[in-house]
Amino acid sequence: MAKIMAVNAGSSSLKFQLLDMPSETLITSGIVERIGMKDSVFTVKLNGQKIEEIIDIDNHAVAVKMLLDKLIDLNIIASFEEIEGVGHRVVHGADKLTKSCVVGEEEIAILESIIDLAPLHNGPNLVGIKAFQEILPKIKQVAVFDTAFHHTMPEESFMYAVPYDWYERYQVRKYGFHGTSHQFVSLRTAELLGKKPEECNVIVCHIGNGASICAVKKGESVDTSMGFTPLEGIPMGTRSGNVDPALVEYMMAKKNKSAKEITNYLNKQSGYLGVSGLSSDSRDLVDASLKGNHRAQLAIDVQAKRIADYIASYYVYMEGADAIVFTAGIGENAAPTRENIIKRLKVLGVEIDPERNNCRGVERLISTDDSKIKVFVVPTNEEVMIARDTLRLTH
Ligand code: AMP
Repeated sequence: MAKIMAVNAGSSSLKFQLLDMPSETLITSGIVERIGMKDSVFTVKLNGQKIEEIIDIDNHAVAVKMLLDKLIDLNIIASFEEIEGVGHRVVHGADKLTKSCVVGEEEIAILESIIDLAPLHNGPNLVGIKAFQEILPKIKQVAVFDTAFHHTMPEESFMYAVPYDWYERYQVRKYGFHGTSHQFVSLRTAELLGKKPEECNVIVCHIGNGASICAVKKGESVDTSMGFTPLEGIPMGTRSGNVDPALVEYMMAKKNKSAKEITNYLNKQSGYLGVSGLSSDSRDLVDASLKGNHRAQLAIDVQAKRIADYIASYYVYMEGADAIVFTAGIGENAAPTRENIIKRLKVLGVEIDPERNNCRGVERLISTDDSKIKVFVVPTNEEVMIARDTLRLTH
C-alpha cells in the first residue's frame, strides 16, 4: 500500500487528492485558493467533513508546506516521507513529453521551453511541481500530461492544412486535451463492455465547462475535437469551438480590437454564455429552456448538433463504435442534454432509454437493449489516472 498525492496546480490555486494505491481509495482531498493574495482559503475534505481556514499564503511552496503540516495535524500521515510519490496534472507536453514521466532537471527545462504553447496552464503547473520539489526533495514528482493520450493520433488527424513549416518550425498541429479523462473513461468502458481495450472502439464525450470528444480505437486516441489549444471543437461553457478563422480579422475591424482581444471573446464570452446571453452554466440553461427561453435552448442545441456531428464522423472514421460514453459535469449530470445528443444519432441505430437515462453522477448503461451502440455514463476520475501513473513510475 502506498500513499500517492495527485495535484492540479493553477495560477492561484492548488487542488489535491491523497489516494491509497493500488486500491485507488480516496484518503482525503482539498484545495488551497487565492494563493499569493490576501485571505487565502484552505479547505480539506476528510470523511465527508469540510475543514476550512482563512490565512495569508504567499506562494505555492508555502501552500504545500501548510497542506502537508495539516495532514500530520489531522493524523492522516505521520511524516512527509509517508507520501511515496506526487503526480501533477500538466496540461501540455507538446511533441517532446509524450507520456507521463518523473520530473528531473531535463524535464523542467523542456517544460519551460514549451510554456508559450499553454501559458495559462503550464506555467502554474510548473510552479506546483517546483513547490513540491522544494518541500519534498527526496520524493519523486511525476508529470501526467493532458495531451499524452492523444499522442497516438495519426498524422492525418493531427496535421492542419496550413503551410508545412508552421508545423516544422512552430509546432502548429492538433494536440488535443482532456487526455487523462478520455483514457480513464475509455478503459472503464472496455471493462463495462467485458472486453480488452484493444478489442473495442469507444467515443468519449467529455462535456463539462470545457468539452471535447475523443475517438478511441482499440484503446488508442485516433482523433479528438480540441486542437492546438482547447478552443477548437465543440462549443463549451464560454468557448466558441470551431468558427471560420476569417471571423477574427472581420471582428477586429468591426470592434476595433486586437487579435488577442477577439480571441479572448472566443474563449471567454462565447459558447453557452455567448449564444444564450444568460449563463455559461448548463444548469441555468436547462432551467431556462424548460421555461421556454429560446436562446437558452438554442445554445444547448448548437452544442448538441456539433457533438452529434463529431460522434457521427468518428463512427465513420473508426469504421464503427461499440460504445458512446458521457462524462464530466454535464455528461454525467444533464440527462436532457444526453438525450438531445443521442436522438440526433438515430440513423446509426443508437437509441436512448429515457428511464435509464434519468440518472445523475452514476455509472450506468443508458441505451435500450436493442440499441446497436451501447451508451454509458461513466464518471471521470483524472486523479486516479494520475495516481496510477505515479505509482508505476515511482515503485
Ligand atoms: P465540469 O467542468 O466537468 O466541472 O462541469 C461543469 C458543468 O457541469 C457546468 O456547466 C454545470 O452546470 C454542469 N452540471 C453539473 N451538475 C449538473 C446538473 N445536475 N445538470 C446539468 N448540468 C450540470
